Amino acid sequence: MHELGIVFHIIRSVEEVGRENRIRRVLAVTLELGEVSGVVESYLQDCWQWAAARSEMLAGAALEVETIPARTLCEACGEVYPTVRYGRTCPACGSAQTHLLQGNETMIRDITVPEDGADASAAESAEAVCAGSGRHGTNAEL
Ligand SMILES: [Zn+2]
Repeated sequence: MHELGIVFHIIRSVEEVGRENRIRRVLAVTLELGEVSGVVESYLQDCWQWAAARSEMLAGAALEVETIPARTLCEACGEVYPTVRYGRTCPACGSAQTHLLQGNETMIRDITVPEDGADASAAESAEAVCAGSGRHGTNAEL
């Protein structure tokens, strides 16, 4: 399956980056997915769930997908138009001398890791407790 191959590729890349940066856990991976990349997001998510669970670094990590709209440039008249709507024929001049500018990507854009390698939710609630006592102190002075 095409999607499974992509998922394995993403996991390998993230694990490599993670090892280089001494990251032990990854919370989420943001992927840029082109409109005409041919990747079906629901299949990709299914494969991700299955494969990420088998990785120590990525177990339970979310896959966030950002769709990149496909745009095509007409070499004859310079028009840039939405690929999904018009395909390879320029809607302005009818030329077929066109090429895809963007919309074919499957690219990792972001990797989310816990702060200090600690559990993220624990770190957040610790901050909330500090902020709360700060406000309380101000109120007591008034
Ligand atoms: Zn044109």
